[in-house]
Amino acid sequence: MQLFSRKPGDTPWQGPADPITGLAAVNDEVSDLVLHVEWPILQAARLAGAVRLTRRLGGDRIRIGIATPHPAGEWLAEAFRAGADDLVICPGAPAQVLLAFLPAARRCRLEDCCPHLHQRIRHNLPMCVCGRHRDRMVLAGHHLDRWCVGDVASCPHRSGGDDHEEA
Ligand code: SF4
Repeated sequence: MQLFSRKPGDTPWQGPADPITGLAAVNDEVSDLVLHVEWPILQAARLAGAVRLTRRLGGDRIRIGIATPHPAGEWLAEAFRAGADDLVICPGAPAQVLLAFLPAARRCRLEDCCPHLHQRIRHNLPMCVCGRHRDRMVLAGHHLDRWCVGDVASCPHRSGGDDHEEA
């Protein structure tokens, strides 16, 4: 897990920091904070703990985002119950790429996640899969962004039961 933060206005994002170091540096000047998790399926409890602690430190003054390339409501719900505000679907990328990505990143809500959106670990890697197709359809990039955490109602895969292997 990595932590990124910034001050109010259009200031640059700072980071990454490990969560403990990053949270220790949270002060009155921090207004926006993003916790980046690559594997929410394995880090759900740790992520929720970091969100809860951030909320205690910063109250309602800090906007807390969860950034991950592998969103799935079932694994992120605990973090949102702990006080996260929004979700950022980010590339699975090194910190420098994330720093460049964050300023213009689309922020969505947990409710925007399709209920069929699952996360699985295959070949020792986390990935998003579609439960509507027995977790066999792997989701990524444009498809994930456009439908699975976007316009779920328009997704062409919600109806029917084709066993697509890939999107
Ligand atoms: S592909 Fe469609 S049905 Fe499957 S998780 Fe994404 S939005 Fe839901």
